[in-house]
Amino acid sequence: MTVDKELWAVRTPASARPITFDSDRCIGCNRCANICQVDVFIPNPEKGKPPVLMWPGECYYCGSCVMVCPRQGAITLNHPLMNRAKFVPSRRPEDDPVC
Ligand code: SF4
Ligand code: SF4
Repeated sequence: MTVDKELWAVRTPASARPITFDSDRCIGCNRCANICQVDVFIPNPEKGKPPVLMWPGECYYCGSCVMVCPRQGAITLNHPLMNRAKFVPSRRPEDDPVC
């Protein structure tokens, strides 16, 4: 029996696009790809280019990839609309009446 040792992967479609890269700022260091616990992206075969988004549906928006990036603005985490609503404070502390 012969075993095909060639590795391959296919991108899976997802409605969300949690990560976007700015290819002008990214230096292709792959720190983001290495730190991601669920392998949302893989290193780009082309050296110096941003990683390839492979399984966007697996992202759980931990933000580790953004925090580890040495180039500000090279990677952006796009939270789903439902999550963004929770970022808005329902009440500001200065609005509270002083007793
Ligand atoms: S936010 Fe977290 S889960 Fe999503 S791609 Fe970045 S490191 Fe991976
Ligand atoms: S960590 Fe930042 S600079 Fe490095 S590959 Fe990822 S996005 Fe690009």
